[in-house]
Amino acid sequence: MANSRFEYVKSFEQPDVLLPNTWIVVRIDGRGFHKLSDHYAFAKPNDRRALDLMNAAAVEVMKELPDLCIAYGVSDEFSFVFHPNCQLFERRNGKLVTTIVSTFTAHYIYKWSEYFPERPLLPPYLPSFDGRAIVYPNNRILRDYMSWRQVDCHINNLYNTTFWTMVLQGGMSNTDAEQELKGTVSADKNEILFKRFGINYNNELEIYKKGTVLYRQYELEEPKPTKSSADEESLVVESQQSRSQQDKIRKLRRKAQVVVDHVDIIKDEFWEKRPWILS
Ligand code: ATP
Ligand code: ATP
Ligand code: MG
Ligand code: MG
Ligand code: MG
Ligand code: MG
Ligand code: MG
Repeated sequence: MANSRFEYVKSFEQPDVLLPNTWIVVRIDGRGFHKLSDHYAFAKPNDRRALDLMNAAAVEVMKELPDLCIAYGVSDEFSFVFHPNCQLFERRNGKLVTTIVSTFTAHYIYKWSEYFPERPLLPPYLPSFDGRAIVYPNNRILRDYMSWRQVDCHINNLYNTTFWTMVLQGGMSNTDAEQELKGTVSADKNEILFKRFGINYNNELEIYKKGTVLYRQYELEEPKPTKSSADEESLVVESQQSRSQQDKIRKLRRKAQVVVDHVDIIKDEFWEKRPWILS
């Protein structure tokens, strides 16, 4: 690298390395998607194609970044989780966030026409995403983070489903529906849906009620292996692995299939059935 009298400006760059040995969550969120979804006429309250496109872009991010353990998406947001022993970009905040955001956005735009063939993207309505990194010091808090997002999905979806049913099927104005829903609890909304519209909320699609979880599928998912191969073992005790072993794990991860699922991630069952995700 050439020395020059200008080089001192490099020293103005601030370090932004994230705390070691913590879970890193990068959450991205669509910018102005309320407007964007209107412009491209997303179905209300849930446009299935828009969700499938989000999930397809997120799968590509998982494939490109084997350090990611799990991701969870709802609406126009996705949370990507790096393991505490992740050393990608020396754990630099800016590098991790911008790489996720730009990789995701690139795939989202690249795949758009596959999901919305009749609605080509046109400026100024181009999708963009913001992103942030948050670190969590232990598994319990990471799981509470994931639960927080899924509870949010549930609360918003119940509200949106009730609201849009009142408007689209009940012929109510947006303001009247909003007014009536003010101060209601979940049971009230379930009752409005069922008594007035004959809709049992439980029968709504899982992708709408639960959001989307992405994780890597390894051979060891049930039935539990009786004998564990060296590879499988290395996945489990990964936290104490050497560099070369970590490279091996990264290769395994790259080969593993990314699963797209719409299931409860709040209860223990999901995690107990897939112990490698947090190990
Ligand atoms: P990274 O890719 O990890 O973010 P970077 O962006 O700092 O690193 P590069 O993108 O590889 O580095 O290059 C940017 C340019 O900045 C280099 O070509 C070099 O001229 C200059 N540069 C990078 N690091 C230093 C340094 N430590 N001291 C002086 N100049 C540097
Ligand atoms: P900001 O830039 O602050 O994030 P925003 O307009 O994107 O603003 P959000 O709170 O992120 O606001 O909400 C995203 C909005 O995008 C939703 O409220 C909804 O209107 C719309 N949206 C996102 N995904 C879908 C979908 N699959 N189907 C229908 N509408 C969607
Ligand atoms: Mg936002
Ligand atoms: Mg948004
Ligand atoms: Mg959002
Ligand atoms: Mg660079
Ligand atoms: Mg460069």
